Amino acid sequence: MYSQVEQSSEESIAVATSPNPSRTTPHILIVGGGYVGMYTALRLQRRLRSNEATITVVDPQSFMTYQPFLPEVAAGHLEARHVVVPLRRVLPKARVLNGRVVSVDHAHHVATVRPASGPATEISYDYLVMAPGSVSRTLPIPGLAEHGIGFKNIAEAIHLRNHVLGRLDAAASTDDEAVRRRALTFVFVGGGFAGVEALAELEDMARGALKYHPELGPQDMRWVLVEASDRILPEVGDRMGRYTVEELRRRGIDVRLNTRLTSAVDRRIVLDDGTEFEAGTLVWTAGVKPNPLNRSTDLPLDRQGRIVATEYLTVEGADDAFVAGDCGAVPDLTRPGEYCAPNAQHAVRQAKRLADNIVATLRGKERKAYRHSYAGSVASLGLYRGVAHVYGVKLRGFAAWFMHRTYHLSRVPTVNRKVRVVADWTLALFFRRETVALGGIERPRAEFELASGQDRAA
Ligand SMILES: Cc1cc2nc3c(=O)[nH]c(=O)nc-3n(C[C@H](O)[C@H](O)[C@H](O)COP(=O)(O)OP(=O)(O)OC[C@H]3O[C@@H](n4cnc5c(N)ncnc54)[C@H](O)[C@@H]3O)c2cc1C
Repeated sequence: MYSQVEQSSEESIAVATSPNPSRTTPHILIVGGGYVGMYTALRLQRRLRSNEATITVVDPQSFMTYQPFLPEVAAGHLEARHVVVPLRRVLPKARVLNGRVVSVDHAHHVATVRPASGPATEISYDYLVMAPGSVSRTLPIPGLAEHGIGFKNIAEAIHLRNHVLGRLDAAASTDDEAVRRRALTFVFVGGGFAGVEALAELEDMARGALKYHPELGPQDMRWVLVEASDRILPEVGDRMGRYTVEELRRRGIDVRLNTRLTSAVDRRIVLDDGTEFEAGTLVWTAGVKPNPLNRSTDLPLDRQGRIVATEYLTVEGADDAFVAGDCGAVPDLTRPGEYCAPNAQHAVRQAKRLADNIVATLRGKERKAYRHSYAGSVASLGLYRGVAHVYGVKLRGFAAWFMHRTYHLSRVPTVNRKVRVVADWTLALFFRRETVALGGIERPRAEFELASGQDRAA
């Protein structure tokens, strides 16, 4: 299916002539196997007959991540493997390639893929689906790139869990007051969903873990939420946003509105309200921007770098290219002149419409426009606490938390994942959650290197 061709640079390029070299069967290339990519492929494989099209999904990861559950993974309520969906298992009729698409030349219907190892590959296609999502939107703040971490993927959630628990262990094992204070200071920048939920869940977990650290008390920990605007969680509305601020402050969390981070050099946090302190943890959750891959394509972009979509989820000016999710500017027909927000609620629904429009195109039928009124949002603020604003109904506390869990359980893809998630939650009812730091997993050779070094010294 792929052939190696000569190339002037050091690397050779394999050219895929599409799964069917005779080109009698159209080839659909899906860039990204997240919400949009996976749901589009699932629907296409269900609706298309085997001779109607072949499907290839390209993603650096071999799984789709259910991102709304990342805070619960960080907090230890859910096992990391239970919130990801293995693409090869759920897409038996598609080809899954693990690699990063580095450019798309739509004029020639060719995408270049860089696999985890081996030479770059060119893949030709008949229909393109752009779904590489978004990346953290960072700012050139001194020290941020060196000491900050985002909260967008499973690796970051696992790391933060181990890191926070590791900081408690470190603080409990030292008599140096400055070291202890720094270890127990956790700063989150950005008061959107990801930041608020991650902070609330991790603080809740750390508070629970203090039971096993008699040297430490809740008053030793300092959790700070820094938000540049005058409110947090805009998705749940003003009133629920204010309630969330009060709830977090009641728990002793230092919520600073209208405040910006100006420096994090050497882990010394400097805020523009004049405050300075040292922190062992800096989590950056101040929004997302479209995947920079968009700029390596010849597709039309708006000023924010999003691929311009029509209401039929085709790319403007290209009837055989489709786009949806965080990487696209999709018109919101329920709010004329505005665009759909980058969230899972839209991504899932857009994926279904997008897949149906591809099927319609293949069968020479009419495409339909994407239209969805935003239903509202739910957020968890730690065990048994939450906030929600759904279909005009505002909820808080246990009711909102319960709604958060039931809603996301209904949404998490595949029956297999749902059962695993329920099993995790059920276990947690009977046993305390595990609060052991397994940070060593990130440096598995450390002990061996030490042993080898000692041996050499001997
Ligand atoms: C912590 C967190 C909590 C959230 N909670 C909620 C919530 O409660 N409700 C809600 O509605 N939304 C929530 N969201 C937002 C929601 O998850 C996103 O809007 C949604 O994932 C967007 O779907 P997508 O398919 O566009 O992108 P993604 O699901 O991010 O998928 C993009 C895929 O593209 C792949 N990719 C990236 N670059 C390339 C490349 N160069 N080549 C090939 N593949 C590539 C990525 O690996 C990824 O698999 C949350 C997000 C986060 C981070």
